[in-house]
Amino acid sequence: MSPPATDAPEPAELPTPRFIAAREVPALLSMRECIEAVEKAFLALARDRTEQPLRTVIPLPDGRSSFLTMPAWLGDPPALGAKLLTLFPGNHDRGIESHQGLIVLFDPDTGSPVLVVDAAPVTAIRTAAASAVATRALARDDASTLAILGSGVQARSHLEAMLEVRPIQRVRAWSPTRSHLDRFVEEMQARFQVPVNAGADARTVVEGADLVCTVTASPTPVLEGGWLAPGCHVNAVGASTATTRELDSDAVARSAFFVDRMESALAEAGDWLLARREGAVRDEEPAGELGSVLAEDRPGRRTPDQITVFKSLGLAVQDLAAAVLIRDKLGGG
Ligand code: NDP
Repeated sequence: MSPPATDAPEPAELPTPRFIAAREVPALLSMRECIEAVEKAFLALARDRTEQPLRTVIPLPDGRSSFLTMPAWLGDPPALGAKLLTLFPGNHDRGIESHQGLIVLFDPDTGSPVLVVDAAPVTAIRTAAASAVATRALARDDASTLAILGSGVQARSHLEAMLEVRPIQRVRAWSPTRSHLDRFVEEMQARFQVPVNAGADARTVVEGADLVCTVTASPTPVLEGGWLAPGCHVNAVGASTATTRELDSDAVARSAFFVDRMESALAEAGDWLLARREGAVRDEEPAGELGSVLAEDRPGRRTPDQITVFKSLGLAVQDLAAAVLIRDKLGGG
């Protein structure tokens, strides 16, 4: 007996997901476009058009390396995917980047995987893009002196991003390993039309700056509140666990402290959590999410002299927004 006829269509052949290697990313993901895409993702977050659990972190037996998974759904533009990230701080001794991984993008209609991208260059760009969005929303329009603490991957992408959003006239940088700092200064000086100088220490670099980016792997404060000039804006990017911080309690107490996502900050932002534990701040929560400021649900900077901080922990929706740009550049949809 033959089986009953059904209306089921013939199984379609699924497309093979494209793989984008690290060297291909710069041509497919410009900082300028990524800033706009990440801003849209923060707005989607504010409008409840995202789903993303807290990232999972598996600590590895060496005591300092970890494996992170960051899945998300983004409503605008529609995107579904995850970042799988390894964090191996010891890699620098091997000449390899400390942050490596993959971003996998799925078709939000069919669930089919469509794109796999090397996460390292995307992370560098999308993180700096988030800081640029925060700087555009919170920093003074005339911010022209930029201080960068750190001279690694994020220091490089942050300099590019800050130049996109503020009229930067001078850059001062510091990091503890002098040869790394010198290489950073030399490279950035050659790449951008702005004077970049190495500072003797963090304090010298930060004092008098309008904009400060902390992009170090330090687990303990590299930035003291007493160094911050009135009206300065800080992008605090480095520490991303409840027990580590780049900012001391005074810096948190002196500032209006904004975060990328409240739920993440209350679980992972040591800068804020440790300051609160020490009694430097009494509020139950930071001042607000960046997306709420962008959506004008909350005020951002209130006065020219106010010090503002954007605490970046890094969200999977930033990775999805960047991956969608890459997919679109490839002509995939
Ligand atoms: P790199 O390893 O490339 O650079 C790390 C930098 O930190 C180096 O300049 C190093 O200085 C400096 N550093 C290390 N230890 C200390 C210390 N004890 N005191 C002061 N400076 C120190 O890392 P990335 O640039 O890729 O990342 C920087 C930070 O940003 C990391 O903490 C990382 O986890 C975080 N990050 C955050 C993201 C987010 O979305 N918020 C996304 C990606 C990264 P030197 O070389 O001179 O010793």
